[in-house]
Amino acid sequence: TAGLDRLRDPNLNKREWWELIPSPIKFTVPDDLVAIDGRGLAFTIEERQTLGIHGLLPPCVKTQEEQLRQCKACLDRLEDKLDKHIYIMGLYEKRNSFNLNISCRPESDVRAIVVTDGERILGLGDLGACGMGIPVGKLSLYTALAGVKPHYCLPITLDVGTNNEAFLEDPLYIGLKQRRVRGEEYDALVEEFMQAVVKRFGQSTLIQFEDFANQNAFRLLSKYRDSYCTFNDDIQGTASVALAGLLTAVRRITKQKLSNLDIVFQGAGEASLGIANLCVLAMLEDGVTEEQALSKIWMVDSKGLIVVNRPSGGLTEHKLRFAQKRAPIEKLEDVVKTVKPAILIGAAAVAGAFTKEILEEMACNYERPIIFALSNPTYKAECTAEEAYKYTDGKVIFASGSPFPPVTIKGKTYITGQGNNAYIFPGIGLAAICTGMKTIPEEVFLIAAEALTDFVAKEDIEKGSIYPPLSSIMGVSVKIAIKIVEYAYRTGIATVFPQPENVETFIRAHMYDTNYEPAVPPRYPFPSTKL
Ligand code: NAP
Ligand code: MN
Repeated sequence: TAGLDRLRDPNLNKREWWELIPSPIKFTVPDDLVAIDGRGLAFTIEERQTLGIHGLLPPCVKTQEEQLRQCKACLDRLEDKLDKHIYIMGLYEKRNSFNLNISCRPESDVRAIVVTDGERILGLGDLGACGMGIPVGKLSLYTALAGVKPHYCLPITLDVGTNNEAFLEDPLYIGLKQRRVRGEEYDALVEEFMQAVVKRFGQSTLIQFEDFANQNAFRLLSKYRDSYCTFNDDIQGTASVALAGLLTAVRRITKQKLSNLDIVFQGAGEASLGIANLCVLAMLEDGVTEEQALSKIWMVDSKGLIVVNRPSGGLTEHKLRFAQKRAPIEKLEDVVKTVKPAILIGAAAVAGAFTKEILEEMACNYERPIIFALSNPTYKAECTAEEAYKYTDGKVIFASGSPFPPVTIKGKTYITGQGNNAYIFPGIGLAAICTGMKTIPEEVFLIAAEALTDFVAKEDIEKGSIYPPLSSIMGVSVKIAIKIVEYAYRTGIATVFPQPENVETFIRAHMYDTNYEPAVPPRYPFPSTKL
């Protein structure tokens, strides 16, 4: 057409050029040669002719596979991690801007929200409004690891101020320059947020709480867990991935019942309490009473072993559930010597807390002691993988929160597993989205842990890992989602009907397909047969 001919006019500036392009077939300017949905040279010659863009692109046609390889080559040339991140985000925005353009309609289709208030970002502390990277990153994992469609996902940061002094003084800080709002005012904002989500996107919108500080995390979870489709990843996702590791260790390696084993926790925060609560649930499945299960759990916080009427105090309602009836013990080493636990779990962000003495003591009491050093980042770990193997003479069943390089002891090389929440939450999110779950009961995390355990191959265990390789997570997510979708229909918390006959097909049909779809609708001769 005349319009398209004008596009070839070399005197047009970028904006004029852009405005001439017929909507909705908009392309970015040819200097980066990428169409707005990221397809670029992947348009076939036929599509180019049909769309009237033949000649605007170089004659070469590249498959998606070839484009992927080219992007990978560009990525590999960048040495700095931040440069790599910026490059990847550029690609992401190129594909996503297409979604943005076509979804500028009054009703958007948000199904999953990850929300933070930025107060306890990883081990980095209070990052205020800069905590946004976490919801964005977690939702990218929903897509990358469970195939959740990107346009279903909405990252949110509730900016209630920050207590980070450096930020408060930094003229470049992007958030509210005030101290954190606490108390009633804070709770009212969160309440308004929860109600707004439901009003805008529906009752079964998944709301994942991420990186809230301890005192808010537990309170908000108890407040909302029975009336919203919500969970807290730092408490419940961590619990599920850690329990999966424990179940793999006791069922597949030491051949014991979890309920028979004493567990010592270093730390009694979100991670430890979450794991301990889920362990109780798992022990009940062995047929023991709640009291018996609780008696197997020993928690050490910054004030020592948690016992009833502890003189040093510091006992919250959540900790009290695990208070042992005995005299206080102050040091972790003494707790380990007294209790002689089969399992030792660290999540207090105290680097080096699992000393040589403690590790030796563990190896002395059990043929295969189970030790998890979960604190992140790497420099906060309770012990390194190497220390764990060295001081237990290679006996340990070990997992960590941060990755460690393989360890060679007595000629055998161990590849240790990383208890990463990314094994769990994307699959749970996928199931919640597929079924429109009303709430996310605690059993869901038990089911996810069981599914992850079942996914571990004999070869993984032989190499020393109680988790499957990170590269297999997409398969793990689908498996977890299948189990949870079945549970959701069985227990009546699903709201999407009719109930699917084949659960896996149902789930896969919901998943994001990254392959380019044909750019033009299918054509056929008409009439197809001679009248
Ligand atoms: P949190 O809620 O702040 O809890 C920290 C706990 O550590 C508190 O109970 C605190 O005691 C205790 N503690 C501090 N100093 C101690 C000491 N010297 N001795 C014994 N206990 C001490 O934090 P969180 O969310 O549980 O996270 C803790 C760590 O686990 C972080 O490093 C985090 O990155 C890591 N984590 C790892 C994973 C994973 O690998 N998948 C998942 C979640 C968290 P008080 O209660 O007395 O203050
Ligand atoms: Mn987190």
